[in-house]
Amino acid sequence: MTLDPIKPAFDPVTLAIPLFVLTIVAEILLARWGKIKAAYEARDTATSLMMGLGSTIAGALLGGAIAVVGVWIWSNHRIFDIPMTAWWAWVAIFLIEDMTYYWFHRLSHERRFWWASHVNHHSSQHYNLATALRQTWTGGVAGTWLLWLPMALIGFPPAMIAIQKGISLVYQYWIHTEAIRKLPRWFEAVFNTPSHHRVHHARNARYLDANYAGILIIWDRMFGTFIAETDAEPPRYGLVKNLGDFNILRVAFHEWIGIGKDLAGSRSLREVLGYLFGPPGWSPDGSRETSATLKARWQEREAAKAEPAPAPPLAAE
Ligand SMILES: [Zn+2]
Ligand SMILES: [Zn+2]
Repeated sequence: MTLDPIKPAFDPVTLAIPLFVLTIVAEILLARWGKIKAAYEARDTATSLMMGLGSTIAGALLGGAIAVVGVWIWSNHRIFDIPMTAWWAWVAIFLIEDMTYYWFHRLSHERRFWWASHVNHHSSQHYNLATALRQTWTGGVAGTWLLWLPMALIGFPPAMIAIQKGISLVYQYWIHTEAIRKLPRWFEAVFNTPSHHRVHHARNARYLDANYAGILIIWDRMFGTFIAETDAEPPRYGLVKNLGDFNILRVAFHEWIGIGKDLAGSRSLREVLGYLFGPPGWSPDGSRETSATLKARWQEREAAKAEPAPAPPLAAE
């Protein structure tokens, strides 16, 4: 079998489109008939679908230029010759791509410049299969694709990288659901699941900045960002400060506009760098909320709750 190392033989995401449509319709109908748990709101679903469409268009516009860079690195500078037909090559790229995704996703939450491009995925206050299609329009501009270039440098053929990236995106589709509560324990231990990803989409302080996994949840467990969903605190979805807006342009660009306004009012290099690359919510005087401040306040409240109540005063004899 010969496989083109540059042009992918197939695109997993394009192949999965009929599956996306069928399963979203099925989730809406089954929820309406009371068979499963799922919350849909027409205008929210419309926004998610439009964001998915816009993301595909943005990807088509910029994807070609980005692919050229990967092909150039692989063609001229690859360290090893990795055959696309070897099983071990697919095992290796599965692991390397998935860990790359973890760090891309973590960066996309912890630093505002990249958050500006990823925030739209978290802008829905619902958690359903349509939410999965709420994808970025500005990922190409944010430059996070650079993180995938070392794979081309190692020697993984560009077509292989593209296919594995697509497989990861398709995998992450089905976990955007409230219909599945928990899967068998061994599966929850190794793989990203609806339960783990609900935590990732939650705005509760307890759940902030957790579960960045793509396919394997092991990276979160290894790098200390894993938080389990607890029945005692159901996730509330969306952003810490919700947009309350279904306008796709605002969904796609609101954080970039926020950065622009902050930069216009900056008075020093420290402020410029803080507004661009600090955590989302960073401000020079610390007056705005970041997930660290929200989490610290939540921990204080929890600690206060856990402290034993003061002993009743001793009765006077
Ligand atoms: Zn995210
Ligand atoms: Zn998601």
